[in-house]
Amino acid sequence: MAEVVLKNVTKIYEGGNIAVKDVNIDIKDREFVVLVGPSGCGKSTTLRMVAGLEEISQGEIYIDGKKVNDVSPKDRDIAMVFQNYALYPHMTVYENMAFGLKLRKYDKNEIRTRVSEAAKILELEDYLERKPKALSGGQRQRVAVGRAIVRKPKVFLFDEPLSNLDAKLRVQMRTQISKLHQRLNATMIYVTHDQTEAMTMGDKIVIMKDGIVHQTDSPLNLYNHPVNKFVAGFIGSPAMNFVEGKIIAEDGVNFRSKNGDVSLMLNPAYQERLKGYTGKNVFMGIRPEDIYDSNSFADRPGYEKLSVQLDVVEPMGNEIFLYFYLDTNQFVARVPSKEMPRAGQLQSIWLDTGKLHFFDAETEKAI
Ligand code: ADP
Repeated sequence: MAEVVLKNVTKIYEGGNIAVKDVNIDIKDREFVVLVGPSGCGKSTTLRMVAGLEEISQGEIYIDGKKVNDVSPKDRDIAMVFQNYALYPHMTVYENMAFGLKLRKYDKNEIRTRVSEAAKILELEDYLERKPKALSGGQRQRVAVGRAIVRKPKVFLFDEPLSNLDAKLRVQMRTQISKLHQRLNATMIYVTHDQTEAMTMGDKIVIMKDGIVHQTDSPLNLYNHPVNKFVAGFIGSPAMNFVEGKIIAEDGVNFRSKNGDVSLMLNPAYQERLKGYTGKNVFMGIRPEDIYDSNSFADRPGYEKLSVQLDVVEPMGNEIFLYFYLDTNQFVARVPSKEMPRAGQLQSIWLDTGKLHFFDAETEKAI
């Protein structure tokens, strides 16, 4: 059992910089939780407080029900994998993995068994006698993970472990770490700035910005029910499109963007939800995958047709990204790869009016 609980945790660095503000996170036994957010949002600081590498200014952290604020890192039964791997260059792979156990005075045979097990899981058996400089980036990364595994800790902490790897290797390691989580059945806390990593790996995702937790939820709930405009724009790639406008009560029109490029009739469910907003400013959001072109669309009720001039056309192979402007905002649509339209041409597109998101223009909270 290894639950981790953060209660009203705040970190104020010397000089008064508040890096983490009143953060509450409940991590269940065996859960894979991802802390994600833009650079500087406080995710590493949060992880380092769990590890005991940073002091907690206010609040409490509990591991397995035990308050650990004043417990030293080595007594917290956690293992951390860093972005730069932090391997000892003069030691072999075997020695790097064994080092932590040696320090803790484990029996030689026990060390050998544990390192062999980890090397097998991570497919490092053929490299045990090599030094780190004779390994590829991906292999070094696996050694860093191996060093954590041999400790059999209650909790694994990962701080951007894949960001030094190239794109292809990152995808491979992502699936390896997910498999490792299933195999070890351990509690894992993983920090990244990459929303794709967060979405694909996390059982639960904690989205942070400016030291504050904005939303804690499952990947699908974050995607379908973002609590505010920041979360809506952060999760999903390409990002959600936004345009500012007003809720109005005119014949057949319920949302009109500022410059009038978008005028929509809303379905009864949205009308009900937005009725308190008549006359008020809101942001409308729609994801690129909820905009269709004539190749992906058969005229159906519930879809609003607009005519746009294409600004940029990006062929992705399996699909095409169409960029255009509505009011002064750049929009992008993801459409199937059939005919290749040209930049500059006029194009009909359809918005799925069942998939719109609305946000209060002042608070940016979801309506
Ligand atoms: P992230 O991991 O999300 O990129 P960090 O937790 O590293 O963010 O940093 C959060 C904020 O705290 C940033 O504004 C950063 O500049 C600041 N910060 C980080 N470490 C220190 C430090 N040792 N002293 C002062 N400020 C720091």
